[in-house]
Amino acid sequence: MTAPILPARFRLAFLLVVFALCISNLSFARQKHHTPDLSAIDHSVQPGEDFYLYANGLWLQHTKIPENQTEVSHFTAVGNKVDRDLTNILEHLDQRGHFAPSTDEAKLLALYRGYRDTHQRNQLGFAPIQDDINAILNLRSKHELPAMFATLLRKGVSSPLMIDVQPDVDNPDLNMVFLDTSDATLRLRKTTNQRHFKKSESAVTAIKAQKDSDIDDDAKGLIKLMATMLQAVNVPNIPKAIEAINTIQSGMDDLPAGNTDTPIQIFKVSTVEELSDVLGSFSWSDFAAEAGIPNQQRIVTGPLDPFKSFGKLFHKHSLEQWQAWMIWQLLDTNATYLSEELAQQYLTYYEVELGGYKRTTHVQKRAVDLCNDLLEWPLARFYTDKNLNHATEKMGRNMVHHMRDAFAQRIKHRNWMTAETQQAAFDKLQKINVKVGKPLRWPKTPQYTPDESDLFGMISYLRNNRYDKMIKQLDEPADKDLWDMTPQTVNAYYDPSRNEIVVTTAIMQSPLFDISANPAVLFSTLGAIVGHEMTHGFDNNGSFFDGEGRLTNWWQPEDFKTFKNLSKQLAKQYDKYLPLPKVHIDGQQTLGENIADLGGLSIAWDAYRLSLGRKAPTDEDSQTFLLGWGQLWRTKETPSALKDDIESDEHSPAQFRVNGVLSNLELFYKIYPVASGDKMYRAPEHRIEIW
Ligand SMILES: [Zn+2]
Repeated sequence: MTAPILPARFRLAFLLVVFALCISNLSFARQKHHTPDLSAIDHSVQPGEDFYLYANGLWLQHTKIPENQTEVSHFTAVGNKVDRDLTNILEHLDQRGHFAPSTDEAKLLALYRGYRDTHQRNQLGFAPIQDDINAILNLRSKHELPAMFATLLRKGVSSPLMIDVQPDVDNPDLNMVFLDTSDATLRLRKTTNQRHFKKSESAVTAIKAQKDSDIDDDAKGLIKLMATMLQAVNVPNIPKAIEAINTIQSGMDDLPAGNTDTPIQIFKVSTVEELSDVLGSFSWSDFAAEAGIPNQQRIVTGPLDPFKSFGKLFHKHSLEQWQAWMIWQLLDTNATYLSEELAQQYLTYYEVELGGYKRTTHVQKRAVDLCNDLLEWPLARFYTDKNLNHATEKMGRNMVHHMRDAFAQRIKHRNWMTAETQQAAFDKLQKINVKVGKPLRWPKTPQYTPDESDLFGMISYLRNNRYDKMIKQLDEPADKDLWDMTPQTVNAYYDPSRNEIVVTTAIMQSPLFDISANPAVLFSTLGAIVGHEMTHGFDNNGSFFDGEGRLTNWWQPEDFKTFKNLSKQLAKQYDKYLPLPKVHIDGQQTLGENIADLGGLSIAWDAYRLSLGRKAPTDEDSQTFLLGWGQLWRTKETPSALKDDIESDEHSPAQFRVNGVLSNLELFYKIYPVASGDKMYRAPEHRIEIW
């Protein structure tokens, strides 16, 4: 539903930095910090050939990727700062020691200490999940499976069907159930997966014969990890179980998406009868009853194709095979919370072998992550108390204000649009709800008595509570104050069904955005990001929603045709980019983000000019603005991380986020000598301007 500015793996990253400078109505202090970073510029590269390399060349040459990262950027730097900050909060609680059990402090501390108590975790081993394993193994008929999937779902374990509760796209004041098929994978890329699974048969034979050398190298780590874990919880016939897990998982990975071209298809509503029908022998009513949604008659499913294929997959495999798959999901969800030995085995495979890290994540960092996952709101409160000050919040709100004004003016100048569509776009823009820094009110912390000697009990309770709270929202009007992201997340997002943008505390900090930076840079960084999120309301998906968050058409037909045509041309431009030899960007996969980047920076430039009043920006100001954008995205990453991004991320890689936008921007041609024949040059008639 939401479109964050960064890929998902950044969403758990984190902050600090207390801004002491005051800011009012853009009376920004003149350049005090090194923004832009002039020492990063590579003057041997012509800006018109590759602006990204020109702006960042020396930085790219001199920067090393730290040991336990696959990339380094401003975003990872801020993320690391947030990590340190959250750790400090928890360490401070640890030093203070005792708190009344009902307090947030006591709850956070118990979770933090409970996880760090590896002695206790080692003593318990698999015991915390043995009851669940036995319950799965004791199932006697396939008819019992749907209810068991739902039972595990309540415990935070992936089920083949996943539930979310979000505002109804036809009536955003009410909430509805959104259903999806599981996105759990064995965390290998699909192509690699297929290769692994074909070889799993021989691997299983090798395990049987205890002949390690016969197992394919790529598959060895995973197969061994599975064998160890399944053996430890007394699963009978391990080779067969591994084979079942692999076969079912590849079936789940291959479920067809169906037609998801536009939000009309993505948010299609189905009746319970339609859903039951395609699920076949999988009983929807048993699943729904156990999942706590027995009375929901209409469900947001999107295309029914994946559910139909899942129904067939369910039918095809035996009880024993589904039991094995379920046990693996249970182990996969909980491996890092059981014994430290098991956690190490699990992380060595996923982080070191697969992820390319030099070593596994330290236990203290994992304890912080656990608190940030299950008690994220109490932690957010402590975090923002320390790190969000009035000046920063005001800077964020001011920027939104300036960007909205500039966007409104640009809408008036969209000469490809009729006055009717312009008015409707203007109305939607005015209705965008803005959340900056932290929520207006904090979600209530669950009431329980924390006990650090019962780590798993606390984890189970909090997961269950989260699930129940989500389901309870079905009986309540949609909560407009809810945040889908915590303030300690280094990110921002636009949510079409709430027509809102959210800019977190964590993202509004140096070196990403510096309150004391040259205003030209502040506009091409913070401004462009705010503009990016606003433009999402008008991209290839957002344009299907109106100002209230309703999925409805507010376009004149001829305007929508032009919009689609312009988008298509933009997608074609990005299709041609090659971040790696023979590896193209997918212009359609990245379209919404590219429209948002192009709109964001264009609006930011207008907003900057408006902020200067009658004064015109100098060429130096303009260069500073463009360098700010060029350096905002600088990223050094390993080729395999880059390849992963190209395949799965809806954002273009950094180099093309920068160059793709600039090659369409008139300002770029005005300020730098870009001529026909230069790599970035586009003839005026091929430059695209949408918003
Ligand atoms: Zn975005």
